[in-house]
Amino acid sequence: AFDVLVVGGGPAGASAAIYAARKGIRTGVVAERFGGQVQDTMGIENFITTKYTEGPKLAASLEEHVRDYEVDIMDSMRAKSLEKKDLFELELENGATLKSKTVVLSTGARWRNIGVPGEAEFKNKGVAYCPHCDGPIFEGKDVAVIGGGNSGIEAAIDLAGIVKHVTVLEFLPELKADKVLQERVYSLPNVTVITNARTSEIYGDQKVQGLRYVDRETEEEHSIELAGVFVQIGLVPNTEWLEDTVERSKFGEIIVDKRGSTNIPGVFAAGDCTDSAYKQIIISMGSGATAALGAFDHLIRN
Ligand code: FAD
Repeated sequence: AFDVLVVGGGPAGASAAIYAARKGIRTGVVAERFGGQVQDTMGIENFITTKYTEGPKLAASLEEHVRDYEVDIMDSMRAKSLEKKDLFELELENGATLKSKTVVLSTGARWRNIGVPGEAEFKNKGVAYCPHCDGPIFEGKDVAVIGGGNSGIEAAIDLAGIVKHVTVLEFLPELKADKVLQERVYSLPNVTVITNARTSEIYGDQKVQGLRYVDRETEEEHSIELAGVFVQIGLVPNTEWLEDTVERSKFGEIIVDKRGSTNIPGVFAAGDCTDSAYKQIIISMGSGATAALGAFDHLIRN
């Protein structure tokens, strides 16, 4: 059996595995895809100490660093359920069961897609999901934000300080964001809000050149020329498989305390799958370290 079994091999899981292995305890990592969301990222400019890197490169060094330690990496394996018996038992989709004294859950999250033509094609070529990450790429250019909830409006306010102009497209007749955010966004001279707008296509050549939307009231189609489209319609944590085993928020995020502990003693969580305030690589790595140290602390006390 493992002392610490990490589920997920993104920045949070890799960091948890290294911190656990450095304590000389039996550590395993199960990951569907090692590297996680980092594998889907083009340029990364906010990973402190590294002015610029690319996702696949950072993912490869994450794996290389983990492999430097005695960590059992089980890549391309998906966890199916977690049960507490004598030890924790993690059942995998392939039928195998892994046993461990403690578990660190770090299964990350995924951005909800709008699913229109051009979205997948122009991902990282103008279609973006993270304003903190990709905002500066569009300095001085026109962009759209799809989604008028809190994350969409926060993104629009953030981007308005960097880009030339922001168009917010909301599907419903009104914005869903908090009142203070709405007031702030409406006060900005370089933001236009369009409600009742159903985005129908993102178009371009090598890169995004614009988008088309249908006014849901008149059924008329419009197009806007743009360099970038930020899709902000929600981040979904990869926690469905946990069902009722650990406590989750109404958004499905695993609830953790400052040591990364969940409501089940011995089960810790880190990164984008938790209710942490912000979702970034550096933040996930920090919380992975916290969860592993929390797990080690649990082991020496029990
Ligand atoms: P993830 O990276 O999501 O990793 C989750 C891991 O769990 C993966 O290995 C996955 O395969 C695995 N997994 C999921 N479910 C299961 C299961 N059931 N069983 C086994 N394994 C499972 N952040 C920045 O700081 N800077 C940036 O520039 C930046 N750009 C981004 C660009 C894009 C396009 C995206 C999508 C995100 C970007 N982010 C950026 C956010 C950053 O990638 C995430 O915050 C970070 O990867 C979260 O790390 P994580 O380890 O918590 O989760």
